[in-house]
Amino acid sequence: MERPEITLDFSPDLHLFVAQPRRTGRSTARTDGVSSLGHVVESLGVPLTEVGELLVDGRPVAFSHVPAEGEHVAVRAVTRPQPLPGPARFLLDVHLGTLARRLRLLGVDAAYDSVDIGDAALAARSAAEQRVMLSRDRGLLRRRELWAGGYVYSHRPPEQLRDVLSRFAPPLAPWTRCTACNGELREAGKESLQGRLAAGTEKSFEVFAECTACAQVYWRGAHHARLTAIVDEAVRDFGTARPVTS
Ligand SMILES: [Zn+2]
Repeated sequence: MERPEITLDFSPDLHLFVAQPRRTGRSTARTDGVSSLGHVVESLGVPLTEVGELLVDGRPVAFSHVPAEGEHVAVRAVTRPQPLPGPARFLLDVHLGTLARRLRLLGVDAAYDSVDIGDAALAARSAAEQRVMLSRDRGLLRRRELWAGGYVYSHRPPEQLRDVLSRFAPPLAPWTRCTACNGELREAGKESLQGRLAAGTEKSFEVFAECTACAQVYWRGAHHARLTAIVDEAVRDFGTARPVTS
């Protein structure tokens, strides 16, 4: 079978996924003559979740395009913010617990389980609940069942948070979601929490919220300065705060 030779050029944002010789401009590849361009790009290491446009000789093509001899392919990274086919909801893999809690702190729907349920179950949940699968595992991001996916580029939670917020631009509603379980918070008066608060807490703070899913109680004044700093920075750079209190 004829094996067409093509040239490829990867956007700088995608360089971390490809071998060193492909990071400096045009490189060549031989394809099998039947595989789609999406498959070819993926086989060179780039998760398709990270690919925006594919251009062949300057014209956009579908991932299903079968490359022919002599074609030049430009592989572009996803645009930011990246449009999604539905509301920005997320599912994070077992390694991203800190990022999950920070997204919840900002009111972003971020499902996360500290028990590893495996790639197949995660992908199925992404599809069933229409959640963007966030992971640093390229194998997981290659799964076809995913509703949508995003590679998390950094190891560090502060950069991970900026990465996700700049990429998907989810609406922010700080202090409206339980950081422990992702449930939504509702306001709760002191009287309804009688007997569930330490005496000092009850005296010092006026605003209470309760998780509608796990009943965890929150009070504004007790938020650690570090959490407030995370919220303030995120709201400043990526959104507007919706106040919780009336
Ligand atoms: Zn909860």
